[in-house]
Amino acid sequence: MSGLVTQTPLWLEDRPDFPQDALPDSVECLVVGAGLAGSWLALELARQGREVLLLEEAHPAAGASGRNAGQLVAALSWPYARAVDILGRERAREARELVEASMKRLGEELADCRSRVQYMQTGSLACAAGDRERRQLEQSARLLQEDGFEAEFWTADQLTKRYGASPFHGALHQPGDATLHPAALVWTTLQKFRDTGGSYAGEGVSQIREEGGWVHLRTDSGELRARQLFCCAGARVPRLFPLLEGRVRSVQGQIMMTEPERKVFVLPMYSREGAEYWRQGEKGHVLIGGCRDQAPGQGLEREAPEPDPAVHAALEEFRRRSFPKLAAARTAGSWTGQMAFTPDGLPLAGRLPGHTLSWVLAGFNGCGLCQIPEWAHRVARALQDDSSLPAWADPARFA
Ligand SMILES: Cc1cc2nc3c(=O)[nH]c(=O)nc-3n(C[C@H](O)[C@H](O)[C@H](O)COP(=O)(O)OP(=O)(O)OC[C@H]3O[C@@H](n4cnc5c(N)ncnc54)[C@H](O)[C@@H]3O)c2cc1C
Repeated sequence: MSGLVTQTPLWLEDRPDFPQDALPDSVECLVVGAGLAGSWLALELARQGREVLLLEEAHPAAGASGRNAGQLVAALSWPYARAVDILGRERAREARELVEASMKRLGEELADCRSRVQYMQTGSLACAAGDRERRQLEQSARLLQEDGFEAEFWTADQLTKRYGASPFHGALHQPGDATLHPAALVWTTLQKFRDTGGSYAGEGVSQIREEGGWVHLRTDSGELRARQLFCCAGARVPRLFPLLEGRVRSVQGQIMMTEPERKVFVLPMYSREGAEYWRQGEKGHVLIGGCRDQAPGQGLEREAPEPDPAVHAALEEFRRRSFPKLAAARTAGSWTGQMAFTPDGLPLAGRLPGHTLSWVLAGFNGCGLCQIPEWAHRVARALQDDSSLPAWADPARFA
């Protein structure tokens, strides 16, 4: 087993500098957090002709958006068959339609910059680690087809024929899925936002109070006020809005990366409902993430964001057991990132309970890339024409 080395996420190795705008005393819309949710929402609001300021306490894509695996997989928090059990058929279909709309929106937005964000529509595979998962994925494929979504179940033999020997018991193939460079997606979105007239500054927000038709904020360097506030602070949302404590939990994910290898994986894959996931980057690095059930506290936010040795050992063991071709690959290092988990696996999108001018867009669990563009679009539209957002994502639902 290779030793545990902490490293900068692959995506943040060549991080660009963004120019900073001066802070105004007041602004129409203020967005907190330049992850994918905040950047995309800021762009949507700016395209409505609004005056928008985006504030980020670290740097664009510093949070989960720059630390994930870049797997653009149309999925809810569970395989579709389980989503149907948990949410009911109608709601599962509605949630999945939203994901499809989001993937389409993202694909269209990237039409002019696919190579910049390394967008590759390869399809994806959810691989069955055992017979129970195989049955669940087979059933998911059937339900997805019945509900009008593109998906196909491949038996273990079909999988072997296409990709050679594999320890998996079959797989769910979704042809519309993709891989991308997740931080470049944020940077490109932020650039489009600035080109649309939006302002950006590297400032943390520490206090928020609604009074007299304004949201008053304290930032690292002073105070300002906004007519509307949108909190897209990912796992850190409860620090700004303690009423969301327990509704948004910070859960640590971990990814290990090998030195560049010849092509082994042509598409993003995952198994055990995303408990392990893997893909290969453009330059050949193999990324394997997950195994957070091995961490003390199951990955709940810890003081030290360094990779957890028990998780690292489990990831190495998973690699050894599942991919003999990678047995000799050298581990380059590992990184972590904080995901925003919700008790019911669904995001928070809408006005904060008890607030009229403050909104939240967060809680994307382990699969935000496929959902955020559409949610951001809908939140911006709700501000424009009072259109309603689905009740199942209402931040007040846990009250
Ligand atoms: C290891 C790992 C692997 C993952 N793999 C995948 C994957 O393959 N596919 C997928 O779809 N999803 C994946 N995810 C989940 C995905 O990354 C998230 O769902 C998504 O990035 C969430 O985006 P966000 O904008 O809501 O949050 P974030 O990206 O966390 O953005 C929040 C931003 O807010 C800033 N901020 C916080 N507080 C303040 C404040 N007070 N003032 C100013 N700024 C503030 C933070 O610095 C941060 O930049 C993974 C996550 C992790 C951690």
